[in-house]
Amino acid sequence: MNEVNTTYQVLLYYQYVTIEDPEEFAAEHLAYCKELGIKGRILVANEGINGTVSGSIEQTEAYMKKMHADPMFADMIFKIDEADKHAFKKMHVRPRSELVNLSLEDDINPKEQTGQYLAPKEFFEQMQEENTVVIDARNDYEYEVGRFRGAIKPDIRTFRELPDWVRQNKEMLEGKKILTYCTGGIRCEKFSGWLKREGFEDVSQLHGGIVSYGKDPEAKGQLWDGQCYVFDERLTVPINRTEHVVVGKDHFDGEPCERYVNCANPECNRQILSSEENEHKYMRGCTAKCRVHPRNLYIKEQSLTEAEIEARLAAIGEKREVNI
Ligand SMILES: [Zn+2]
Repeated sequence: MNEVNTTYQVLLYYQYVTIEDPEEFAAEHLAYCKELGIKGRILVANEGINGTVSGSIEQTEAYMKKMHADPMFADMIFKIDEADKHAFKKMHVRPRSELVNLSLEDDINPKEQTGQYLAPKEFFEQMQEENTVVIDARNDYEYEVGRFRGAIKPDIRTFRELPDWVRQNKEMLEGKKILTYCTGGIRCEKFSGWLKREGFEDVSQLHGGIVSYGKDPEAKGQLWDGQCYVFDERLTVPINRTEHVVVGKDHFDGEPCERYVNCANPECNRQILSSEENEHKYMRGCTAKCRVHPRNLYIKEQSLTEAEIEARLAAIGEKREVNI
């Protein structure tokens, strides 16, 4: 038994602050992170830093101490989750042109324009008020497994399609109190700022995001349904500490489900919700095409014979197309 460092932490953080030379900063920061032994993914841009890393308590505490000692990041807020192992396999620090890509003609600087910050308790109270619209600023695969009760999911595939959607749904939003939320808060800094620039007056954002909301002793994650999708190997984390309502639906049969798997077609790799039973039944393929893809990883893992594959397909009313 390894009794050293069996307790880990996962950190989630961002700071909008001017970083003069993102390339140079990223290279130095990567060297430091590797030396320290933490793992994760950090983006560095002219407009700031956005990261999520994992490590032992000693490593992550040292990391936070080092960052807070730098005047640029002195007031950076770290969202801390306990874990029993690393949540990442590698350490990446990548220079980027933007931390959050809204694909706007004129980018938003959240330090100049952003929605009002709401503490978790304020968000909890205001989301229940009349004339309030709650908008989920995340992607649909994130919304699928969990969201605030009654929150609107813009009918978009990626964050960059959000501006178009808002313009098309203006009537639904006009004159309303608009609350926005995302995982850690970074996307809402820009999205709420963008809504204000679009002319919506009463725009607020959940400060610290869903992750902080779940940890807040007063909000206790209330009115959050399902789980919160996170961008590490844990895939989801619990938020609501008072009740657990499952909103995720199995990709194959629509039954309540919170279990993510990646499509076994390595060229697809789409994350879908699936029970263990359906994973076997559908050979973890999200479509008929993915099920019989020549490099299907499930078939390889299970060492399925051709006859076994035919039998699985027959059971779900499918058969191999003849490839020419
Ligand atoms: Zn697929």
